[in-house]
Amino acid sequence: MQYRGRLAPTPSGFLHLGHAQTFWMAHQRCREHQGRLILRQEDLDGPRCRPEFALAAEEDLRWLGLDWDEGPFYQSQRLPLYQEHLQHLQDGGWVYPCSCSRKEVQEAQRAPNLGEEEPIYGGTCRNGPQHEEIRAWRFRVPEREVTFQDLRQGPQRFVGQQDFGDFVVWRPQAGPSYQLAVVVDDALMSITEVVRGCDLLLSTARQLLIYEALGYPAPAFYHCPLVTDENGVRLAKRHDSLALKTLRERGENPPRFTER
Ligand code: GLU
Repeated sequence: MQYRGRLAPTPSGFLHLGHAQTFWMAHQRCREHQGRLILRQEDLDGPRCRPEFALAAEEDLRWLGLDWDEGPFYQSQRLPLYQEHLQHLQDGGWVYPCSCSRKEVQEAQRAPNLGEEEPIYGGTCRNGPQHEEIRAWRFRVPEREVTFQDLRQGPQRFVGQQDFGDFVVWRPQAGPSYQLAVVVDDALMSITEVVRGCDLLLSTARQLLIYEALGYPAPAFYHCPLVTDENGVRLAKRHDSLALKTLRERGENPPRFTER
């Protein structure tokens, strides 16, 4: 089977060194395997994503010396595909309608919100929505293990309803969630290996449940270490973290990476 990888920036801001390292690794692995690389702009977050960020990301990638074979594709132009897959999840009873407001979700959450992860949903609407207005479709997460072998991080094990709860796949107001769109695209684009940052390890567990529900084979996963500064702060979280665009426009040389 031919290796197929992807670069999947979210054009809601400028790329920085952390992104550069992940994309460099994705490119490196794809070329090592004589694969094909797909560029996909994950521009579903309407108000935050902007065409100028998508354009800057493409210029950054070229400046880094990273080329691609297919795309760019734009998730914002693929809504009917996500809709079809939502329908499949609805027909199979994999998802249920939830009428909870943000406040209600917070009040009923099962565990305190840990870091950046979304809280574990308390299950208020599992047996039927409480109000008329549907605010989300949630995946019904089973109380069981989800395990996978990460090509970089080794064996991974997460437990449904302990490590993550019923997550949102669709909001009538906003469309598909990242979790749904990424699985549909990786499956339809026949991606064989997903290379991305370690911050998405737990999301991989969620996505594996969606693959099962949709009956698609899951790709292999390679989660890169995150780039931190000398104090261990993630670059993505630092307000002053330098945009590649800034380095580029200053006439600096593109950064060089090695496999650490
Ligand atoms: N678009 C996501 C991001 O920029 C990456 C998602 C993925 O690689 O699955 O964080």
